[in-house]
Amino acid sequence: MAVIETRNPATGEPLPPVEATQPEQLAKIIADARAAQREWAARDFEDRAAFAEQLIARVSDAEIVDELARSVAQEMGKPLRQARAEIANVRNRSRAFVDRAREACKAEVGVEGSIEVTTTWRPLGVVAVIAPWNFPVSTPNNLALSAILTGNAAVLKPSEFTPRSGALYHALIADLLPPGLLGLVQGGGEIGRALVQAEVDMVAFTGSIATGQAIMREAAGGMKRLVLELGGKDPMLILPGANVDAAADFAVRNSLTNCGQVCVATERVFVHRDLEAEFIAAVRERVAGYSVGDPLSEDTDYGPMASERQREIVLEQLADARERGAEFVVEGQKRGPGYWLGPSVVRGVADDMRLAREETFGPVVAISTFAETDEAVRRANATPYGLGASVWGPPGPETEAVAGRLEAGMVGINRGLSAAAGAPWVGWKMSGYGYTRSVAGMRNFMQPQTHARNVG
Ligand code: NAD
Repeated sequence: MAVIETRNPATGEPLPPVEATQPEQLAKIIADARAAQREWAARDFEDRAAFAEQLIARVSDAEIVDELARSVAQEMGKPLRQARAEIANVRNRSRAFVDRAREACKAEVGVEGSIEVTTTWRPLGVVAVIAPWNFPVSTPNNLALSAILTGNAAVLKPSEFTPRSGALYHALIADLLPPGLLGLVQGGGEIGRALVQAEVDMVAFTGSIATGQAIMREAAGGMKRLVLELGGKDPMLILPGANVDAAADFAVRNSLTNCGQVCVATERVFVHRDLEAEFIAAVRERVAGYSVGDPLSEDTDYGPMASERQREIVLEQLADARERGAEFVVEGQKRGPGYWLGPSVVRGVADDMRLAREETFGPVVAISTFAETDEAVRRANATPYGLGASVWGPPGPETEAVAGRLEAGMVGINRGLSAAAGAPWVGWKMSGYGYTRSVAGMRNFMQPQTHARNVG
């Protein structure tokens, strides 16, 4: 039996292996999904959506939440409280997913002269859902619900770093659905590539830009539909007149939560030079208050990084910043066993440093200053990434106007970004292709078909 081997990032100790899917098993998993999908698509929407309430009940059960949260903490080091918050997202978002999908599935009728056209929205068939390790429960749920509620079948491939959490999530939802409708494939990039090449109609992917590009190439042959949610290098602009305390709270929280391993983490702070000293003092104080410890303890704010490789990337970027003259306000220490790396606060980050150019995905508050707002906007936009951003300044039209000049799909104004209230989850430039959530996001999992007839 081929297995996936993982390690507990807090200790470096091996975790129980999980069985890997073999390429020759894919055809049956996909065929079962396709057979189940035909009957699923024929049901009316409310019948299809009924399972969502049962899923919500399951992820409200304290024992189930505890098992899932412990698995996430053990596999990728997310502190237990944050893991529970991730699972709470499944509970809190699922009804909104149902509401958006209900709208997306409605036909539209238009009349022009003597022609009446009805546009119906049809499921695509089987959607490959390929997920990363940093949100091992909520990301699979976001993509799988989008696919299933719009009448598709899905085949989920969790990350090879979090196979057990992926399997637990799958087990929670799969038996609420017709047999085979949500398949499961376990393994790494190789089986991921085989899944993209197999008889699937769409790939819904969350992960790195490099893998997104590989998927795009693989999918080109079959012109498969794609939704790709990719990496970010989110800027934060702190303008004159900003509430520095609130900005420091956010900068620290959004750079360090999940050890910075969040696609919409704050990766670049641009603070007006007159506010820098006050801002850095406030950041230093907050970082000192972080409780570093065992991810399985209830009091921990900050655990280990998820993998040795991820820690190495961060250390390489920090070494490059030091060589090029950045100053460490706080220097995160590496320690073991396990993949621990304390938080760093770095000032004087120049635009040509790796810390400013490449996704860090690590616990670093990276600070540089600016003199003019135009300069801050230009430097914030000087990146191929365009996922999220935030602007901090006096509430009102001037700060709003700066938000409108940023090349990011999601911008927060005196807060973090949000896809609440029916908004899409969307990246710009190389941070995404297609998008999810929102009615329009649901329609990315569907094919419009028009029926034209003469009237009158
Ligand atoms: P990754 O791209 O290395 O892997 C993601 C998934 O793709 C894994 O399941 C992996 O096994 C699979 N995979 C790898 N090669 C493949 C191939 N050739 N074909 C098909 N599948 C393949 O990313 P990761 O390290 O797991 O996750 C971190 C990345 O995800 C970061 O860049 C982060 O910013 C991004 N991310 C983005 C969002 C978003 O919403 N935009 C959310 C979370 C994470």
